[in-house]
Amino acid sequence: MASIQVPGGTIPVEYSADVVVIGAGPGGFSAALQAARMGVSVLVVEKLDMPGGVHTSGFQGSANEGVGGIHSELMQRFAAEGYIYQADENNHPDWAGNPLSHYERMKAAGSEFTRLTFNPEGAGCVMADMLHEAGVKALYGTTFVDCVVEAGSGNDTIRAIIVENASGRLAIAGRIFIEGSGTGQVVARAGAPFVAGGGPQPETARWDGVNRPIPGGLLWTMSGVNYQSLVRHQKHAKDPLLEKVIAEAQAAGDLPDGLYRPRMGGKGVYGEAYIGHPTLDMSPMAAKGTYVLWQNVPYDMALRMDSNGDDQATAIQLLRGYINAEGKFLKKYVPGFEDASIASIGRFVGVRDGRHPVGEHVFCLDDVRAGRRFRDAVTKPMSKIFFWDGYRPYTFEVSFRSFLPKQIDNLILTGASLSFSYETIFMVMRNFPWCTQTGEIAGFAAARCIEKKLGPKELEWTEPYF
Ligand SMILES: Cc1cc2nc3c(=O)[nH]c(=O)nc-3n(C[C@H](O)[C@H](O)[C@H](O)COP(=O)(O)OP(=O)(O)OC[C@H]3O[C@@H](n4cnc5c(N)ncnc54)[C@H](O)[C@@H]3O)c2cc1C
Repeated sequence: MASIQVPGGTIPVEYSADVVVIGAGPGGFSAALQAARMGVSVLVVEKLDMPGGVHTSGFQGSANEGVGGIHSELMQRFAAEGYIYQADENNHPDWAGNPLSHYERMKAAGSEFTRLTFNPEGAGCVMADMLHEAGVKALYGTTFVDCVVEAGSGNDTIRAIIVENASGRLAIAGRIFIEGSGTGQVVARAGAPFVAGGGPQPETARWDGVNRPIPGGLLWTMSGVNYQSLVRHQKHAKDPLLEKVIAEAQAAGDLPDGLYRPRMGGKGVYGEAYIGHPTLDMSPMAAKGTYVLWQNVPYDMALRMDSNGDDQATAIQLLRGYINAEGKFLKKYVPGFEDASIASIGRFVGVRDGRHPVGEHVFCLDDVRAGRRFRDAVTKPMSKIFFWDGYRPYTFEVSFRSFLPKQIDNLILTGASLSFSYETIFMVMRNFPWCTQTGEIAGFAAARCIEKKLGPKELEWTEPYF
């Protein structure tokens, strides 16, 4: 391919801060908030128009009671500001056990359930307020593009990041940098080691012996849905999965190939337990008559959306086309959707399995299976079920060294960019509460480093934060 010479030269250092955070998803947001609350100067760059990442801009608004710290504070604040919506058997009779229900379909029909969601747009406003109240300088509409790295005799140091926004291309200097991009972008730009996503999964997670990357996904909402009318159709037409209306629409040429793919067989993440499978499912969200729906990047497209612009563009085009077709199909063919319309589409196709930075310790399934305990554990032992490993419950710890990327001295990892192997992805290392906790831990560590004039790798971690 042809190349072109670009002018070199200098660019202005427009801002500087003690702690510079790249990306304001759950990880970056809570890192920025915690560090600012400890009295250091904090600047965060976020390319979209609000904090919250996948959970606001990406519409993944699952709420719960909170796991302590900033995560619980968020849940309480969303509730206090009227942004939590509760679906239960009173307003959604026949929802438990309904095959269209994303989360409750495995429950016994008629059983009790409570589903809490937060309104992603409202939540984004609250999170922006919280950063503002804490004195964080938040540069929205600002995209991180590169790092200025100074080589050392041992490790390297990031001196500044390069960003682009309405002011043009500028530099931001800092002492400690925090990786909150969700896809290890700072690590990659700084030249530090990482493992690309989509690597070979353990045998227990395979289906048919085939290795498939965990697909990225795009969430969207429809409002104006008459739920009772939908349930009446499911019962009276004996069409619980909407197969009859799907067949009708297909025969009429109203559904593109590939839009409704059958659920994959098998067990584990690619079988029954896989969330975000490419078939019709939905979940009540934000308000009466509003539902969130999922479109996953098809399994057979080996997309590297975090590192290949072509793949990313193809995925966006494809999924938008599917959403358009699905919205029209539901309206035209499915009782209960006559007055519904597409309300919103997530601002980005989320990457579930992106780059995995290589840290001073890489958290892996063996740590969990062996029940390894770490002198520098960031939390007391946590208990979780590991889907990857046959639904087994484990109690485990995570070392602070999993927050420290190899090769760079002044970068701290958070959220989906922590150092972990892909087998630990599912429902542990990349879940929302944990990503928020890792951000808070990173923010605490960064502020401590500034106070004590230490680098993150010199900080002695002696007791769990949570
Ligand atoms: C489709 C999907 C569904 C999911 N469902 C669930 C679920 O049901 N439950 C659950 O617990 N977890 C779920 N997850 C996982 C969870 O959402 C993520 O692991 C978590 O959001 C990661 O947090 P993060 O802060 O690391 O990154 P993200 O949430 O990805 O946030 C990264 C932020 O950085 C910003 N950013 C990125 N690049 C740049 C740049 N170059 N310059 C400036 N800003 C940038 C982005 O705009 C974004 O705001 C899901 C993930 C996806 C993708």
